[in-house]
Amino acid sequence: MSYAGLLETVGRINDVLNAYSILNWDARVMMPPGGSETRGKQLATLAVIAQSMIVSDDMRRQLDAAERETAGLAEGSVERGMVAQVREAVGYHSRIPAELLRQKTELGSVGQEIWATARANSDFKSFAPTLEKMVEINRQIAEAIGYKAHPYDALMYRFEPGETAASLTVLFDKLKAAIIPLVRAIGQKQQPRADFLERSYPEAAQLGFAVDMAKVIGYDFNRGRLDTTVHPFEVSFTRNDVRITTRFNKSHMPMSLFGALHEAGHGLYEQNVDPAYTRTPFATDLVGLYAVGGVSFGAHESQSRLWENHVGRSPEFWAQHFPAIRAAYPEQLKDVDEAAFVRAINRSRPSLIRVEADELTYDLHIMLRVDIERQLVEGSLKVKDLPEAWNAKIKEYLGLDVPNDAMGVLQDVHWSSGQIGTFCNYTIGNVMAGQLYAKARETPAIASAAKAGNFAPLRAWLTENILQHGRRYTRDELLVRSTGRALDPAPYIAYLTSKYSEIYGPDRKGN
Ligand code: ZN
Repeated sequence: MSYAGLLETVGRINDVLNAYSILNWDARVMMPPGGSETRGKQLATLAVIAQSMIVSDDMRRQLDAAERETAGLAEGSVERGMVAQVREAVGYHSRIPAELLRQKTELGSVGQEIWATARANSDFKSFAPTLEKMVEINRQIAEAIGYKAHPYDALMYRFEPGETAASLTVLFDKLKAAIIPLVRAIGQKQQPRADFLERSYPEAAQLGFAVDMAKVIGYDFNRGRLDTTVHPFEVSFTRNDVRITTRFNKSHMPMSLFGALHEAGHGLYEQNVDPAYTRTPFATDLVGLYAVGGVSFGAHESQSRLWENHVGRSPEFWAQHFPAIRAAYPEQLKDVDEAAFVRAINRSRPSLIRVEADELTYDLHIMLRVDIERQLVEGSLKVKDLPEAWNAKIKEYLGLDVPNDAMGVLQDVHWSSGQIGTFCNYTIGNVMAGQLYAKARETPAIASAAKAGNFAPLRAWLTENILQHGRRYTRDELLVRSTGRALDPAPYIAYLTSKYSEIYGPDRKGN
């Protein structure tokens, strides 16, 4: 019964990590700000408990026995796959001192409060010492984990296994070569009208419509809920309780709509993992200490971006749902037709804030953050020089001047919470979404249903090929199985090029 015993231990680790996640959800949705310091300790204690369970002598004994017990099974079997993932996690965590993990988790909780104040005052100097500590802890963790070429590779491993500083350079160079000329070309064209998106949209109506659209794409509210937060996110406590949040801006309606579609896309991933994998290594990130069914952060992001952008901003989707959005906002959209609405929600122009960036310029925001993180981790860029480096990159990639640090280097929460090495996931998600969407639409029944505004066959294809497998296969294994290729930017680049040529085509007038 050693294999069964191993699974039971992993089940308990999954329980601890779910407790961690719900404390984290509470901290971001409900907790008063005064709770952050003690909450940081509670989270750190749970993270260290989970880590100590993974590296315990009991676990090692069970693992040895389970390996013997399953040695005769086929190499690709579920049992051997699960055992191999536990082995990998034991090796990984044996290298990271618990004290470092504790320091990082505690500083991450306090750091978010310090960052929030610094951002409110646009005062980078008050955040710099915390960030210096966080970079140093991450550097020590990278050294402890070990790496071949670059310390950044070690940090990325828990978010996007297989990706390295070198592989990202290749991917990003291809994307930059395609995206920057498109952005420049659009800069010369007349912008479509979008004033009506900035009219006054009551929050209650926005909430109601966001819930409706999340349901439309298949997010199950029996196993989910939608709350309001400053920074939207999705988190699951097994596939049976998958929560999402969005945020509202009264005078910018797309924020809540596309925020909800994005997070519901993440939610669909977790809600559709094979129920047989619940509490197993295929629904537990034992390396990242996170109870999640998605196989990498980038793979997760592929699902959110697919539903937000490829589906949620498509003419087909609005051919079906424009009457509903007009009914939800009869005054605000009274002088707008479907075509004008679709053009407006696909408008592109360089902007300073990542989370408000349009689909085309979004990856430029990511690439500049990855450049900066790599330099911070290798030590070629000092924290004190960060604002200057940031502003120079924004100018280089987007042609904009940054008026203050709140609109610049202080805008994202990631570094304050200790996450360094995760920004690439957004762009990998975009690339993967492009690849999956193009492949799925090669199936005539999926393409014709989508043209009629019915995306259920697409969801079924994604569930079959990606979602149900949880963490059984790597990201690239999933891509090869479903599209015949590992991560490949060509379909994404083709999609962006054709979409923006259509919206900003030579004959397009600005209306
Ligand atoms: Zn996301």
